[in-house]
Amino acid sequence: MDFRLTPDQRDFAAAVRDFVNKEVRPVSEQNYENHTFPTDLVRKLGELGVFGVTLPEEYGGAGGDMMLLGLAIEEIAKVDSSLAVTVEAGVTLGAEGIYHFGTDDQRKKWLPRIATQPGLVAFGLTEPEGGSDAGATKTRARVENGEWVIDGAKCFITNSGTDLTELIIVTAVTGERPDGRPEISAIVVPKGTPGLTVGKPYSKVGWNSSDTRPLFFDNCRVPEENLLGPRGKGFAQFLQLLDNGRIMLAALSAGMAQGCVDEALAYAKTRKAFGRYIGENQAIQFQLADMKLRAYTARLAWRDAAERAIAGKPYKDEAAMCKLHASDAAVENARAATQIFGGYGFMNETLVARHWRDSKILEIGEGTNEVQRMLIARGMGLK
Ligand SMILES: Cc1cc2nc3c(=O)[nH]c(=O)nc-3n(C[C@H](O)[C@H](O)[C@H](O)COP(=O)(O)OP(=O)(O)OC[C@H]3O[C@@H](n4cnc5c(N)ncnc54)[C@H](O)[C@@H]3O)c2cc1C
Repeated sequence: MDFRLTPDQRDFAAAVRDFVNKEVRPVSEQNYENHTFPTDLVRKLGELGVFGVTLPEEYGGAGGDMMLLGLAIEEIAKVDSSLAVTVEAGVTLGAEGIYHFGTDDQRKKWLPRIATQPGLVAFGLTEPEGGSDAGATKTRARVENGEWVIDGAKCFITNSGTDLTELIIVTAVTGERPDGRPEISAIVVPKGTPGLTVGKPYSKVGWNSSDTRPLFFDNCRVPEENLLGPRGKGFAQFLQLLDNGRIMLAALSAGMAQGCVDEALAYAKTRKAFGRYIGENQAIQFQLADMKLRAYTARLAWRDAAERAIAGKPYKDEAAMCKLHASDAAVENARAATQIFGGYGFMNETLVARHWRDSKILEIGEGTNEVQRMLIARGMGLK
């Protein structure tokens, strides 16, 4: 493993860090408190190249790799993980879905706007009756007069109802396989298509300024050419996207874990109790040491998985392990940082309080941590 960053990677991470400190940090609390999706900040991140960083230049992207995207997500998540997940879901599950599985025509038609505007692409897999068990998809699609007709519902879909949302990739049952299992395909539904209803945003425990909604499809018709990738390959496609998504969610978790260290360390050096700085107590020092260690190993884990993916090596196990490890690190660090802040740690005005609320979803999204353990066990040959 060689995690020394190249000058390009360092420069990009520094540019994102600078943007986050100047533009995101001052408004983050207000957006969180008011449940405001930060359209302007997302646009500006688009101008910085973050949404197109992994897309080839011919589609308006920067031609970079997963490491660059992860570095950006890590920097954003130190301060605002709602914004970080907007990027993570928009790029890894959305834009890259179009890039990896789209035809030439689909790429040319959709990617340039996605890379630059940015136009957000949502990824609609989870259903009211099927999250972890994604093969239990109930949404159905059939071909009629050259169109896909979609009926069903999705829930908890990130980026599905923002002003910048352009497309929704939906998985649906399109038939039955020879072995009797459902044939699942992915279909692209542009925002505003008749028959698609985008529900109201959920009231969430955290990620308050990210957009998460239910979707309803009732006789929703899109052209037959909106099929993404070959018919019946939707299941395999989303498993591949989720592997990448897990690495990027681990980068987000590592960013949050480090953000907790930064905040708690600064506080421990300035807050006084019993006539001295709380950071002079060994109990606090040990907490900070453990937090730093967790942030460090979370960072190593996602970067190792990303490096394997970029090198074309198998990385399924590493994707599951880094997601599991980094999300646990973020949860532990958010809990410890909140404790170090005492009563102020329970106030939403402090960043650590927001990290604490936001950390829980990291154990649930992109496959719960139980699912990650199942994948790791499967990788060891256990049925
Ligand atoms: C804020 C937010 C944003 C999201 N964004 C998206 C999105 O953009 N697109 C999308 O498609 N989905 C999205 N999701 C959905 C998310 O991926 C699912 O919630 C998650 O995969 C879990 O599915 P579930 O909620 O149906 O839980 P369930 O699958 O019902 O699981 C419930 C519990 O049972 C456990 N469990 C299930 N099966 C087993 C087993 N075999 N062994 C042991 N334990 C098991 C789970 O680990 C969990 O603890 C989002 C969710 C949230 C909350």
